[in-house]
Amino acid sequence: MRPEESIFMKEYLVSKAKQTMPISARCNLRCVFCSNYSNPFPITRDVFRDLEDIKANIPLLQPFNGTINISENIPGRIAEGEALLHPKLFEILNLIRKRFRYTETIEFSTNGTTLTEEMIKKLYAYMPIRIRTISMNSSSINYWQEISVGMRKQGEIAIKAVELLGKYSIPFDGSIVAVPKITGWEGIEETIKYYVKNNVREIIIWHPGYSKLIDPRIKEKIECSFEELSKFATKMRKVYKKPINLFPDLLMPCSVNIQKIMDFMQDMGKAKVLWLVSEAAKEMLGLEIERYSPYVWNEHFVMPVKNLTYGGNIIVSGLLTVDDFIRAGKEFLKTKSDIDLVLVPKEPLDTAGQDLLYTPYYKIEEELGCQVKVV
Ligand code: SF4
Repeated sequence: MRPEESIFMKEYLVSKAKQTMPISARCNLRCVFCSNYSNPFPITRDVFRDLEDIKANIPLLQPFNGTINISENIPGRIAEGEALLHPKLFEILNLIRKRFRYTETIEFSTNGTTLTEEMIKKLYAYMPIRIRTISMNSSSINYWQEISVGMRKQGEIAIKAVELLGKYSIPFDGSIVAVPKITGWEGIEETIKYYVKNNVREIIIWHPGYSKLIDPRIKEKIECSFEELSKFATKMRKVYKKPINLFPDLLMPCSVNIQKIMDFMQDMGKAKVLWLVSEAAKEMLGLEIERYSPYVWNEHFVMPVKNLTYGGNIIVSGLLTVDDFIRAGKEFLKTKSDIDLVLVPKEPLDTAGQDLLYTPYYKIEEELGCQVKVV
């Protein structure tokens, strides 16, 4: 395959993460919450990236903070995959090391099912390496099997891998998708404890997301309250004294500088500004805008955008589409039509200004009939 025909290369060229070169869209598990099986539109899956295409990508890589990543696909276009399954993994690592010597860290996320001691020793030759996250969702083999729907042997390897990473001092973050209906909260805590005991750097707890295509029986199993999970994460941070990051975290302070944006809109002379925001961000962003409103002369309105493309419980901004923004914007304009400017978040757009379905964001401007800015 010629590199220009490769979906991986196309994605790389419009990606914001120039340090990231995913090599796999194939996985050996079938986790109950895996988004690969309920995407509302077709995505590339079940393939390994072609070696020639990888060779073409390596010279384009721009390490970020001294790191190159070989496993993170753009969500929603290429399926999540397991990089360590790539049949030419070591050839690829050799090529990366040839280009980047031993100064840059090579990082990847993994489900851990191939991380035997022998494998870890082989990887050790390419140090510095870092496991961005090991997605070992339960330290109990029975729960692991129920969640990850893999063979017992695979689960045993993944659980043991956490210990081995500690033993070989390979830095890693631990990831857990919270499914308390399967493990109970105690089961999640046990896994946190196991990660901490083995020197994890940070832990990420994911709220299990699902789209409108989820099988109702699976939905019943994985549903989990945001509030309860948030309280649980707060408690765990205090007990285990480790950074425990929740995603999405509805209480997380805004990462964008709201004050600066509001000042800028004021300087532009925009009297009425509409913020179209994800449901995940609406609360904290709304509070921040309200807090700063007395200091600007113009008016700001916040409209949460429902993700009707994915449906289900998807509320993060990264998976919103242009259609979602148009629908929400039109809804708002029915009640207030004299808006001068609409702001949309940058997260769901690639560097070509397109959403996951390749629809350009200028369509929002065309459909709403007012200027749109990406912030
Ligand atoms: S390990 Fe990740 S990619 Fe593989 S099935 Fe589980 S969630 Fe999906």
